[in-house]
Amino acid sequence: MSTLPAELRRRAEAARGFLPAEEGLALHQAARTLPLEVPGPLLEVGSYCGKSALYLADAARQQGRVLFCVDHHRGSEENQPGWPWHEPDLVDAAVGRLDTLPHFRQTVHAAGLEEVVVAVVGDSATVARWWSTPLAFVFIDGGHGEQPAHRDYECWAPLVAPGGRLAIHDVFPDPADGGRPPFEIYQRALASGAFSEVVGCGSLRVLQRLDAPLADTTRRPSPGKDSA
Ligand code: SAH
Ligand code: MG
Repeated sequence: MSTLPAELRRRAEAARGFLPAEEGLALHQAARTLPLEVPGPLLEVGSYCGKSALYLADAARQQGRVLFCVDHHRGSEENQPGWPWHEPDLVDAAVGRLDTLPHFRQTVHAAGLEEVVVAVVGDSATVARWWSTPLAFVFIDGGHGEQPAHRDYECWAPLVAPGGRLAIHDVFPDPADGGRPPFEIYQRALASGAFSEVVGCGSLRVLQRLDAPLADTTRRPSPGKDSA
């Protein structure tokens, strides 16, 4: 039985975005059951209009934590005009680019979760470069291209506190189901020896940080030009 209040569940399911309800509940459950002794806030990379944020924010609230939502709100490559996941009404006409921030704010406000949600508007790698607080839970659902996905992994995985959790979305073991990079970073996390899998639901994978150093992410990269 999920502890997500029914009203919030309805709101999350109705929110615009890319997270099936079943995976949202699994994400909520994985965050809500974090051991309380693991320090730190929750953080998601890739918020779009706030769908996944509602699930994570409720878990944060139940645990007395907060959720940081990192997104430049200009959309990923696959959200740009000409791509299948482009939603034209999200374009800010004055700027000529996507702007999901107003929609994100509306979603969080209407759900009554403003107190536990902190929007961080900017490029994920730039934020990570200046971030030093250990994180209890990281959800990676930002750019799905080769460079952005691997960079997000390299930036954020080392910041997961021991005992904390790393969730990755759009992990497709079968290439016929979707792009490779999220699957590749999931494999990197397992191969690093620092994480073990705790939950899998649809294309969501949740890993738990063991008390061990990561083998291949000792240096944080500086942000590249490609911010998609
Ligand atoms: N989690 C969302 C879906 C995220 S879609 C949901 O539940 O619906 C991917 C998001 O990642 C987009 O909003 C896009 O703007 C953001 N994104 C892509 N690359 C980024 C980067 N380099 N820095 C910050 N945000 C990025
Ligand atoms: Mg996704």
